Amino acid sequence: MIDLQKLVRDKYDKTIQEASNEELYYALLDLSKQSSNSKPNNSSKKKVYYISAEFLIGKLLSNNLINLGLYEDVKSQLADAGKDLIEIESMEMEPSLGNGGLGRLAACFLDSIATLGLNGDGVGLNYHFGLFKQVFRDNQQFTQPNDWMTDESWLEKSSKTYEVPFAHFKLESTLYDIDVPGYKTETKNRLRLFDLGCVDSSIIRDGINFDKTNILKNLTLFLYPDDSDRQGELLRIFQQYFMVSNAAQLIIDEALEKGSNLHDLADYAVIQINDTHPSLVIPEMIRLLTEKGINMDEAVEIVKSMTAYTNHTILAEALEKWPLDFLEEVVPHLVPIIQELDRRIKLSVADSETHIIDSSGRVHMAHMDIHYGYSVNGVAALHTDILRSSELKVFYDLYPEKFNNKTNGITFRRWLMHCNPRLSRYLDELLGHGYHHDASELETLLDIQEKDSLKTELEAIKTHNKRKLQRYLQSHQGVTVNPDSIFDIQIKRMHEYKRQQMNALYVIYKYLDIKAGNIPERPLTVIFGGKAAPAYTIAQDIIHLILCLSELIANDPAVSPHLQVVMVENYNVTAASFLIPAADISEQISLASKEASGTGNMKFMLNGALTLGTDDGANVEIHELVGSENIYIFGKDSQTVIDLYATESYVAHSFYEQEGIKPLVDFIVSSDLLALGNHERLYRLHNELIVKDWFMTLLDLEDYIATKEKMLADYEDRDAWLDKVIVNIAKAGFFSSDRTIAQYNEDIWKLS
Ligand SMILES: *Cc1c(COP(=O)(O)O)cnc(C)c1O
Repeated sequence: MIDLQKLVRDKYDKTIQEASNEELYYALLDLSKQSSNSKPNNSSKKKVYYISAEFLIGKLLSNNLINLGLYEDVKSQLADAGKDLIEIESMEMEPSLGNGGLGRLAACFLDSIATLGLNGDGVGLNYHFGLFKQVFRDNQQFTQPNDWMTDESWLEKSSKTYEVPFAHFKLESTLYDIDVPGYKTETKNRLRLFDLGCVDSSIIRDGINFDKTNILKNLTLFLYPDDSDRQGELLRIFQQYFMVSNAAQLIIDEALEKGSNLHDLADYAVIQINDTHPSLVIPEMIRLLTEKGINMDEAVEIVKSMTAYTNHTILAEALEKWPLDFLEEVVPHLVPIIQELDRRIKLSVADSETHIIDSSGRVHMAHMDIHYGYSVNGVAALHTDILRSSELKVFYDLYPEKFNNKTNGITFRRWLMHCNPRLSRYLDELLGHGYHHDASELETLLDIQEKDSLKTELEAIKTHNKRKLQRYLQSHQGVTVNPDSIFDIQIKRMHEYKRQQMNALYVIYKYLDIKAGNIPERPLTVIFGGKAAPAYTIAQDIIHLILCLSELIANDPAVSPHLQVVMVENYNVTAASFLIPAADISEQISLASKEASGTGNMKFMLNGALTLGTDDGANVEIHELVGSENIYIFGKDSQTVIDLYATESYVAHSFYEQEGIKPLVDFIVSSDLLALGNHERLYRLHNELIVKDWFMTLLDLEDYIATKEKMLADYEDRDAWLDKVIVNIAKAGFFSSDRTIAQYNEDIWKLS
């Protein structure tokens, strides 16, 4: 079908054999871009604009080749010439244009929107440096700029440009498009990333520090790492407004091109606001419409009928509230509009909890979204319930009809077909291709009669994936893992609510247990991966503890044959795609009520790992789908936790005093660890767990340890374990983002 030899010859005057992996990568980049370019853009009348500050798309080559139907052909032509697609893929720089789950969700959604043939583009910013690169030195995290843009890349410069007004200057944007070819579709969509020509990386000082006041040079320079410092907040407002003003102008432009008279704009466009980062699109769209002669009342109604908001968290610190003075300083022209929107609410709603501008002059972005949009959705059933019953109860009482749930999902193209080709091919053989377009068909796996050969094959695939991960870790960071051990994996952003510290306390438990002579039946490899926000000290302390434990255990010959701790450096989408298919145990141990959904949990389940988790986020739905026999649930439930917060009755110290817990916590400041680590970090973490422990690590610790021990014992009954694995894979279809997007479309977007 394709002539790769010719392509490489035309570009480099070489044969495939002679070309370097890098040259082959660029040849395949061209091939993939040409192929998606030959598809027309989806041009149906109404379009969804998924506006998001983050799109954690990851490397695109293999995924695009899969979606374009070129993957197998390319792979075999390369193999004929003695080249390996995995090696060539490793030449691609990862676009890490997101922090974690929220950004990755946006990327999965684009893939599904295109695959379902829906008209929908992503709109965001073209950060020159993605999420920082994490390096470990002295058992601590250091940060480096993460460059991803090469001269030839996925970005296609468009001729569109818009003028964006700020208080003291106007900026001209540049638009770059990245094609989003759906899986075997006729048309394509795009990711639209706005940029600023005068951005200049020479203002970067050491690491990822730069002059935050020089907006002309820094506006799209860096992705904002969440939990960032306050001095970055003004820059954040600059970024957000630049993103949404461009988005609003693009939306109006495209609607006009299709014949809209603007009064009917909602027939042409729907905006999905991914968290509150794009919320300023509401006043900006109203501003632009009134500028074009539509009166204020009508402009408000138009915007209200075309804007939908997704809430991603109930953590108070993550709900954006910008001081009105900040907005005055950056976008003074939006302030009267926001004040007018607030005035209208204050006239009709007495409860000050729902006001947009509070008594300290802060603008609550989520409140604006809820009042002036027509849909509010949570991202898992439990999360949406908590929004309705407590977190956003005052709003739910006002507008019950706006609230709906859309349980998150993941694209199976990346998280099965690309990352686990062996499993995916095997499922094709067993089940046919139907599940590629209707993931619920994975359930037919339960009807397979030849259970023994199914189990043998699943075991072989897992071992294959463990070896693949072994090679990756060896070349990535020089660590050797044992593929005959149990792989117990916790990979996600570092955050106290996700409780990596609880897993670290388990490691201490296991270490002491082995020291006491209890040799486990089989070695255990505990793998962590995750970045900590640069301003989040305790999260960095937790990384430090994990790295110190890793060193201590590796150097203890009495323990190291039985237990190994690995902290993967620079966890990102690429690393995830090696780690997840190799996992036996998926750690999803957030404090119940705190993880809105999670999507890592879904990726692991699909790839045949069993979940060790709390009844939190989408774990609740996994639990319901697979049944209690096929998941390991522990810990206090969300209602208990919510009550403990309400009554302020959790006291870490009383748990610390228990005989099973104290030695584990105190080991953090044992002479063994102090000899390896930074005293300030270890003492701070120790103290935090005893006197504060805001996310109640010690509350669930004993149950966690007992459940994990049970799980390790159960692992030895391979037959019974693989029965559970089969149920997990079979039931994972619900978590396809194709299902999620079909529901968004059905209930919210209503595209044809
Ligand atoms: C899926 C994913 C996440 C989200 O993981 P959670 O466990 O749901 O927090 C974060 N980062 C990357 C790179 C991912 O692929």
